[in-house]
Amino acid sequence: MSTDPNEDHHSPMHRPRYVGIPTFFRAPLKEDLDEVDIGIVGVPYDGGVTSRPGARHGPREVRNSSTMVRMINQATGIAPHELCRVADIGDAWVPSPFELTGSHDSIQQAFARIHERGIAPLAVGGDHSISLPILRAIAADGPVGMIHIDAHCDTGDDYMGSRFHHGAPFSRAVEEGLLDAKRTVQIGIRGSINDRDLWKFSHDSGMRVIYMEEFYRLGVDKVLAEAREIVGSGPVYISFDIDSLDPAYAPGTGTPEIGGLTTLEAQLLIRGCQGLNLVGADLVEVSPAFDSADITSLAGANLLFELLCVLSDARSLANSTA
Ligand code: MN
Ligand code: MN
Repeated sequence: MSTDPNEDHHSPMHRPRYVGIPTFFRAPLKEDLDEVDIGIVGVPYDGGVTSRPGARHGPREVRNSSTMVRMINQATGIAPHELCRVADIGDAWVPSPFELTGSHDSIQQAFARIHERGIAPLAVGGDHSISLPILRAIAADGPVGMIHIDAHCDTGDDYMGSRFHHGAPFSRAVEEGLLDAKRTVQIGIRGSINDRDLWKFSHDSGMRVIYMEEFYRLGVDKVLAEAREIVGSGPVYISFDIDSLDPAYAPGTGTPEIGGLTTLEAQLLIRGCQGLNLVGADLVEVSPAFDSADITSLAGANLLFELLCVLSDARSLANSTA
């Protein structure tokens, strides 16, 4: 690692964390995609929200809060910037944001470009509808398994004339052959509903749905053991909706639900994904205008770091055996 503070600007040992333009984790900003193993990419799009908007502002605030995060994961020892070439590769922005399916096409194209270069994407939304175009890009060659942490299954049906809102990306992903339902685990599901069969698609397709009450009863270790068994050794995507956290830890989101995960439980869940064949991840639904004292963006940034750690560990293992 260079000792030149201009080249090595992500190291807080050379320059204080509050200095400079706030890229994700102070990683270098590289829009040319050369020499990148893990590309952290903002997706400032929230045209798929069904209630409170604002997740389009998520990437900026997560970037800002992420500058606080240091270099090494104290719990696991993983130092992602040493294991991999990590870069902030800018935003997958949408040139025509007022039209939903065209916006998803733009996001898919951005992630296809990332995927073609062999870069593992770590996306920051945006609303949860963005996971569908990401999967269209990275699972084009075959379906992936998924560990999905969320208050909602997001396997809904049409809503007010749209099949592609943020409550339905994963039903569409299964229908399009991008997601292997039998290798999918959904953790933290809860909240009031309008339809008793709201998450029928998850159950009928064979996803393992771990409602919050069951999570509470089983605890993190048993949930992880089962989740790892289900996703197995094939490619796995992690999708983390910030509303999986209790609103005490994440008030700044569109569809908050009480009785949620603590930030520690979320950290332990993501750390427990170490060693899986991870091909990418996203963190979605941070809506800064509903936040208070950066609680949600700080939680988001630190959970994004946990995702970066397990992804960089998986990527360095893949690099060393390639
Ligand atoms: Mn969601
Ligand atoms: Mn949700």
